[in-house]
Amino acid sequence: MNESVKIWKDISSYIEAAMSTVSYEMWFGKLVPLTIENNKLIMVAPLVSVKKTVDGFKNTVVRDAIEKSGSYVTDIIVITEEEAKNYKPEKETFQPAETKTEEDDFKYILNPSYTFDNFVVGDCNNIASSAAKAVAENPGVLYNPLFIYGGVGLGKTHILHAIGNYIHSVDKTKKILYVTSEQFVNEFIDSLSPSRQASKISDNKLNKSFREKYRNADVLMIDDVQFLSSKMSSQEALFHTFNDLYQNKKQIVLSSDRHPKELTFIEERLQSRFQCGLTVDITNPSVETRVAILKKKAELKKFSVSNDVLFFIAENISSNVRELEGALSKVFFFCSLEKKEVCDIDTAREALKDYINVSTHVISIDNIVDATCTYYNIKRADIVGKKKMKNIALARQIAIYLINDILGLPLTSIASYFGKDHTTVMYARDKITSLCKSDKLIQAQVNDIKAMIQKK
Ligand code: ADP
Ligand code: MG
Repeated sequence: MNESVKIWKDISSYIEAAMSTVSYEMWFGKLVPLTIENNKLIMVAPLVSVKKTVDGFKNTVVRDAIEKSGSYVTDIIVITEEEAKNYKPEKETFQPAETKTEEDDFKYILNPSYTFDNFVVGDCNNIASSAAKAVAENPGVLYNPLFIYGGVGLGKTHILHAIGNYIHSVDKTKKILYVTSEQFVNEFIDSLSPSRQASKISDNKLNKSFREKYRNADVLMIDDVQFLSSKMSSQEALFHTFNDLYQNKKQIVLSSDRHPKELTFIEERLQSRFQCGLTVDITNPSVETRVAILKKKAELKKFSVSNDVLFFIAENISSNVRELEGALSKVFFFCSLEKKEVCDIDTAREALKDYINVSTHVISIDNIVDATCTYYNIKRADIVGKKKMKNIALARQIAIYLINDILGLPLTSIASYFGKDHTTVMYARDKITSLCKSDKLIQAQVNDIKAMIQKK
């Protein structure tokens, strides 16, 4: 990545956090970094109107973002595409810090909006969030390492940043190191000289600056450790780093898309290190939590949205929080196009038309029930009837779980479909949720049926 792109990525993350997604995408998201000249970042705008608007933000949002990023860039100059054509960029001229210092190693790169205050706690994440808070309040003392796992877009990265942001707010001298596992692997590879790359890595062969950087951390957070799978030398480097930090009572926080035991191609000794502290999971939020998250996001972005609209989005989009946020931005974007101050349900329906068609509308309760019957080879009349035979009862409970999971329908609607009461449906959902965690076979069956439904 060239320097101007790298710097822009850094600065723009602060701009993004300071304004609504729609405005950001409309103006700043359209800028393309060209070069850096005399420590000024030169950006190209596709339209004069974009340049004018961005210039209007220069003394406020842009200046703040440059400051927060701690960059050596002093200003951002926006030129139009027309001007860019006649522009003869020289070699990029900038003066970053001459040699890498410890400050560079621990440069603050956490997303300032990923805080505990902005994280909505519900059944799906309350244990993870309490554990994360405890770790943030007492790093290195209580749960070391803290291992958080769960599906994509459910808030793992948000929690890791929240821990870092919290610790930083209490003690600015704490060296917080947040990396994705890909970054860890890349830095590790860069740190090896060609001759070392070929040889087996022993602790004392680790490059000094790599080793110092990681061992000087007070808090080390590695996101998405599943990507370390099969990368044996990097795992070895992590193993040594881990032991060192752990012995020195430095906090380690890890995230992954699955439980440490299910991390295939990760050395056993590392897997067991991952589990020697506290392992917690995050699951899909219920419809109520999805509404609460949407409410929070709307508040943060200063969107005015009625509860009806929030429920409409939450009931139709159940896959993960990231998609939920995307849907909210799209609704807001449509409202801003129509110059509506408060988003209404018709605009929301229009905005999410394609989305809903693709993700859920084509899937109905009947589809889910039929797929479950086909899978277990039982009759539809039995599953919706009153039979209590073990195999039928289990299939019914799985269908209930899937309807709630995929469609996010309220339990009362599911109950009336099956002619059961609300508590029976809730019991079924909770039972299958917990079986999915404890029983590999059930988990595999549920995933198979899900795949069947989604393929249709
Ligand atoms: P993951 O790392 O698990 O893939 P992220 O942490 O990147 O997921 O979360 C995706 C998006 O969803 C982020 O914008 C995050 O702020 C948001 N998010 C996830 N869970 C919550 C929550 N409980 N409250 C508020 N925002 C959330
Ligand atoms: Mg993540």
